[in-house]
Amino acid sequence: MLATAPGSVMLRPQAATTLRPGQLFIAEDFALCELGAPEIWDRMISIAVREQASDLHLTYQSEGMRIGVRLDGRMHDQGVLPAEVGQRVTNHVKVLSRMELSERRKPQDGRLTLDIDGRPIDLRISLLPTSHGEDIAVRVLDRESSLLSVDRLGVSGCQLGEIDALINAPSGLILVTGSTGAGKSTTLYALLQRLTDGSRKCVTIEDPIEYDLPGVNQAQVNHKIGVDWSMLMRSVLRHDPNVIMLGEIRDPETASAAVRAANSGRLVLATSHASYSAAAVESLTALGAHPHFVARALRGVIAQTLVRRLCPYCTIRLEETSDFALLEDVQHLLNPDERPALSMGRGCPHCRHTGYRSRLGVFEIMTADDRTREMVAHNRPAREVYSHAVESGMVTIAQAGKLSALRGLTTVEELLNNVSEIWTGGA
Ligand SMILES: [Zn+2]
Repeated sequence: MLATAPGSVMLRPQAATTLRPGQLFIAEDFALCELGAPEIWDRMISIAVREQASDLHLTYQSEGMRIGVRLDGRMHDQGVLPAEVGQRVTNHVKVLSRMELSERRKPQDGRLTLDIDGRPIDLRISLLPTSHGEDIAVRVLDRESSLLSVDRLGVSGCQLGEIDALINAPSGLILVTGSTGAGKSTTLYALLQRLTDGSRKCVTIEDPIEYDLPGVNQAQVNHKIGVDWSMLMRSVLRHDPNVIMLGEIRDPETASAAVRAANSGRLVLATSHASYSAAAVESLTALGAHPHFVARALRGVIAQTLVRRLCPYCTIRLEETSDFALLEDVQHLLNPDERPALSMGRGCPHCRHTGYRSRLGVFEIMTADDRTREMVAHNRPAREVYSHAVESGMVTIAQAGKLSALRGLTTVEELLNNVSEIWTGGA
């Protein structure tokens, strides 16, 4: 790809054979070819965007500026630029994203829109002065890969029905929980898109607003001028919405307001950082929301994590493997006509030789029943509420992950790296 880019200098004719898995370019080559800072930046960012990287990291270390790219959640090293070349690239990015060029001691934030292959791509750029220089983190906000419909998130057939039952309720509280980077925003956006058929007024409170959603009124938190979550929440309620989407509930006032709204005819969607479904409910009462009102409002919790999806171009089926033993406890959850298809990716140009291409959500959907509400109202520990959900037939996040592996969508290795419940016996 590098060697054939139109108008480019010939860079390493055998580049394809020297790239490691996950390596998109060789930073040292840019310096060797004496490219200018604007050209180095253009190449790095356009290759990263075309290869669907989520982030580009330019960090100063003692040997120079190290370039890293995050692909499907994993960092891949792309080499080092000499410090003085790196400094010119940093200055170029600061100018492009309208940061103060002369300010070298304070962190700065900027945004930038690029046209890549005729598509507008938004970049969120953050600059952090560190001991060796000014590090830059670039987040690629790509509408096409971030605004997915619910059925493209990785939700299995029966879970899709459970999600529909949750969001079709006219009112109540739905929590989406998982660690940072677990795909919660993508899920919330997907739920909202499913809800916006024009029959319900949807309002969001976000910090920051990452994507414009057609048919949704989006309000932005702005701490600099004192516009915080609770102030926006009070204002949003006066706009008489049917559906309110909050990001994370962080303060007692917003927690109580969200629960009140969910108990007075609105459907409220919010996020939590709790690691499993029942713990998300507990995080709300820990913020001071009254357990009795939380119980009355609660519809359900969607817990999730992301695993890498096997590349469809190079996946091969494994006939014999010891991993099947780990998956035995979920075989009965497969459809009767499904044959377990544990698979692996051999690696090909489509997946940058990693064997994986894009990511897949793994979900646990806890629907609140009368017993759940009773337990929440009496402030029972999250583990008890969770046990009740499992006894009632909830597919846990560990089981959902194992099913994805048995269906040949991901690997046991990915589950072991990303689904902690596999280790703690949560399934
Ligand atoms: Zn592949």
